[in-house]
Amino acid sequence: MSKINDLKVKLAMATRMLFCAELVDYSGHISARVPGSDQFLIIPHPVSRAAVMPEDILTADLEGNRVEGKWNLPSELPMHTRTYRMREDVQCVAHLHNRMVVILSMADKPLIAASNPGAFFGPGAVPVHMDPALIHTSEQGDQVARALGKGEAAILRGHGSIVATGSVEWTFAACVDLEESASRLYCAYQLGPVRFYTDDEVARVGAQRRKLSVVQKIWDHYVAKTRLAGLMEGL
Ligand SMILES: [Zn+2]
Repeated sequence: MSKINDLKVKLAMATRMLFCAELVDYSGHISARVPGSDQFLIIPHPVSRAAVMPEDILTADLEGNRVEGKWNLPSELPMHTRTYRMREDVQCVAHLHNRMVVILSMADKPLIAASNPGAFFGPGAVPVHMDPALIHTSEQGDQVARALGKGEAAILRGHGSIVATGSVEWTFAACVDLEESASRLYCAYQLGPVRFYTDDEVARVGAQRRKLSVVQKIWDHYVAKTRLAGLMEGL
């Protein structure tokens, strides 16, 4: 099997795992750069995230054109194209309409590390793109990429989030940690003033969490969980 086909299988798995983790439902998407090229692979607009197959995965270029595949591209494609153009280090981009991250943004509550999953994203608040509109133009895609900056996650107020890292596994783990961090923080905000991590705590916990072995453990766990849920059929 070619490396491109391997990557298509991995993207199909990641999509179903995001579905199993309730991080995507009928919408949301994940893409991966074809190594060493100006093209990337992405799941299509209309196919169920619970049942996507490797042969459903589309190839697109950084201008936003479909290069290969039978389905329509996701409507929010500019988020992917403009991030890949601005960030040569990024190999995988996910866009989620994740519930707890969105709820914090609805109340203007900053997403700052106050539990270990939050330390994955470093000190300070995860940046917020304030326009809730869907990302349909290059200009909007640039705005999201600028909000992301050199980081690995940004919140789209009232809408969702973007996660962009150097591998499919790393992006998946970051998606899990982003939502878990928001979910715990939401509960803590109900109880009163939140004790956020100091920069030193973020640095120490982040160094323990941002490891390939931890990322792989999260990936392997969700592979097993998704298989047990019967959602890996054909993969
Ligand atoms: Zn969206």
